[in-house]
Amino acid sequence: MSEHHAAPVTVLDTLPSRVLVGPGARHRIPGEIERLGARRVLLVATGSARAAADELAGALGPRLATRFDGAVVHTPVAVTGRAMEVVGRTAADAVVAIGGGSAVGLAKALSARTGMPQVAVPTTYAGSEVAPVLGETENGVKTTRHDLALTPGTVVYDPELTLTMPAGLTLTSSLNALAHAVEALWAPDATALSDALATEASDGILDALPHVLADLTALRGRERLQESAWLAGLCLARTRTGLHHQLAHVLGGMFDLPHAELHAMLLAHVMAFNLPSAPKAAARLERITGGDPVEVVGRLAAGHDGPTTLRALGVPRDALRAVAERVADRPYPNPRPPETEAVTRLLHSAW
Ligand code: NAD
Repeated sequence: MSEHHAAPVTVLDTLPSRVLVGPGARHRIPGEIERLGARRVLLVATGSARAAADELAGALGPRLATRFDGAVVHTPVAVTGRAMEVVGRTAADAVVAIGGGSAVGLAKALSARTGMPQVAVPTTYAGSEVAPVLGETENGVKTTRHDLALTPGTVVYDPELTLTMPAGLTLTSSLNALAHAVEALWAPDATALSDALATEASDGILDALPHVLADLTALRGRERLQESAWLAGLCLARTRTGLHHQLAHVLGGMFDLPHAELHAMLLAHVMAFNLPSAPKAAARLERITGGDPVEVVGRLAAGHDGPTTLRALGVPRDALRAVAERVADRPYPNPRPPETEAVTRLLHSAW
């Protein structure tokens, strides 16, 4: 047999989702609801999205069944239970999530339990809206399930909804998106498609972020960040995540930490740990940054006006080894084996 025939075959499932992108896209949401044939919409919003949710509630008119404003980070099963009571009481037949990854996560959890169609309207760069992944927390443990059916059928990206993000969230949420792309570059199941998505996402984030941080109202820069976050989210759907996401899941689950800040502070440390073992990812990131990617990302992360260390987030120093042990015990696929000693050292440097 020729070498050509012995090459491994890639099989990709693509997601049947409908995506609306651009300034003002939110005004099309009522039309999308009509298209779905839904009559009793549950609107899930985070507090920060209240103004946008009010506007949408008005536009939905009689198709709005009720609102649930209690979405919180890491999709606690108890909160989902309360929202399920609302779903039952109002006989909702579709869910619209407007807000960050917390609102989108709750809508996924509700859809997983009821089969309701979802419309996701993200206001951060978390990327969950295009990922067939749901992380849920119960008793301090975050478990993650993967299923194409979890992905919202309709996603609405309106960069005008991101203009209210303060500098800190803009930075940390962008680095959260960058982490999705970077992990896709060194994933064991990377393909030409995921490489293309991850490269464009990384380039867009690293290019646009400094401009947006200098002028938070720069709509074109916000658009580029949001588009890049979309591509980065698509990476999550297409490749397996490694040490970075595992650390974020374990630390986030154990200590109930803010998602984007945690990602932002870990990324440069994990890049320093992995890039020497991931030459292809390193070469791409060097080309994009025109320098040392660890230094570029580390400098961005250090510019955060909130906590930049695990210590400042309140993680106790004596817990770091237990985190490393949990990671090493059942590691996500990673270019460098995450052995307990080495991961403990990584965590100490992030502490
Ligand atoms: P979030 O939704 O908790 O939002 C963070 C904070 O920002 C909140 O206080 C929120 O009210 C505020 N906020 C959101 N949008 C804003 C805006 N436009 N202007 C001002 N403030 C705004 O956090 P997140 O980082 O977007 O998402 C984190 C959650 O998403 C976690 O639960 C995480 O597990 C989940 N997530 C899941 C996936 C997945 O694939 N399943 C991917 C990424 C994130």
